[in-house]
Amino acid sequence: MTKQAKNHTHRRMTYQRQVISDCLKTLNHPTVDEIQECVMQTSPTINKATVYRTMNRMVEDGEIMRIAGDDGVFHYDATLDAHYHMLCEECGMLSDVDMPVLPEIDQYFPTNSDFRLTGHDVIFRGICSKCLTKKVERN
Ligand SMILES: [Zn+2]
Ligand SMILES: [Zn+2]
Repeated sequence: MTKQAKNHTHRRMTYQRQVISDCLKTLNHPTVDEIQECVMQTSPTINKATVYRTMNRMVEDGEIMRIAGDDGVFHYDATLDAHYHMLCEECGMLSDVDMPVLPEIDQYFPTNSDFRLTGHDVIFRGICSKCLTKKVERN
């Protein structure tokens, strides 16, 4: 979908979407399980299947982003502007990195390839501060 097409998509802000997007804002790149937990607390009438289906639609409509973390776990992100992420290899925590995106990376992509480039994602891997503290305590 092009950027323009996205802007013209009629956004139906249903009650479910509102609840889910509120949860997305308070959680840090949550998984679908974490969203479901959050939704259950505020709106126990919305069942898990509805949350799952609604989130898939929101991804299709370009309202939220889906990021593949470790072990095939998807994280969801309401920040649509290009930005980079960091992933903790111990606990799977996914977070934004406060740094500029580097559009010049795209320039290194082979121009003779028949793959049509639309952009790039970067995930930095490492160990988060929480897990580092745990490691120090263990030793
Ligand atoms: Zn961690
Ligand atoms: Zn993000």
